[in-house]
Amino acid sequence: MKMLVDLHTHTLASGHAYSTITENAQAAARKGLELLGIADHGPSLPGAPQLSYFGNMAVLPEEIYGVKILPGVEANIINHEGELDVPVCYLARLKLVLVGLHPGSYPGGTVEENTQAYIKAMENPYTDAMVHPGRIDFELDLERIAYASARLNVPAEINNSTLAVIRSKVKASKNCSLFARYAAKYKGPIILGSDAHYCDRVGDFSHALDLVREAGISEQQILNTSPERVLEYLSGRHQLRPNVA
Ligand SMILES: [Zn+2]
Ligand SMILES: [Zn+2]
Repeated sequence: MKMLVDLHTHTLASGHAYSTITENAQAAARKGLELLGIADHGPSLPGAPQLSYFGNMAVLPEEIYGVKILPGVEANIINHEGELDVPVCYLARLKLVLVGLHPGSYPGGTVEENTQAYIKAMENPYTDAMVHPGRIDFELDLERIAYASARLNVPAEINNSTLAVIRSKVKASKNCSLFARYAAKYKGPIILGSDAHYCDRVGDFSHALDLVREAGISEQQILNTSPERVLEYLSGRHQLRPNVA
C-alpha cells in the first residue's frame, strides 16, 4: 500500500515540535508524498499558536517542493459538548480541521462523557477527521467511536506516533488494535497520520500500516493512498459547512 498523503504534521508553531513547514514539505517530497496537511495544535494547548496564526495561513503557497499544502489545525475538543478551541470564523478559512482530545485542553470525564465529546465534535460540520482515538489519556468507548465515524462518514485516524511512543506502548498499542478491529468491522473511512513533530517523521506510517494489516482494515477504507480521494472527500465535506458571513 503506497501512502501519498500525510494529513497530520506539526511545525515549530505548535511549541513542542521542531521543524518548519518548509522542512516538513521537503521531507514529504523526499518520501514521495503529494499532499501534506499542516495541523498545528489549537490555541488552548499550552505553547500552541494564537488564533492569528491560523487566520493568516492563506499567505502560504499552494505547493512547496512540489507537495500540495493543506493549511489546517488540530483543534482541541475542550468540553463534553465536543466544542472546539478554534472559532468558526477561523475554521471556515482552513482546508483541514482535525479534532482531538488532549490533556491541558480537555478536562477529562467518564467514558460516556469522553466518547460523547468525540462524537459531538465529529458531528460538527467543520470537522474533517478525528485523531488518535487509541491514545490512552482519556478512556473511550472505541466501538461507538468507530461506529460513529462510519455513520457520519468522518474519517478516524490510525496515529503512527501513538504506536511509536515507547513509554505507553503496551496499553496504547492494545487500544489502537482494538480501535482498528472496530474500524474494520464498521468499515468507516480511515486516515493514517504520522503526527510528526520533527520533519524526518513526516510520512512515517510504518507502525500504523502493520496495525491496519493485522486488523483487516481494507485498502478501500484508507483515504490517504490517493491525494485525489482526500481532496474529493474534503471538498464534499466542506460543502456541508454553513455559510459564514
Ligand atoms: Zn494530538
Ligand atoms: Zn498532533
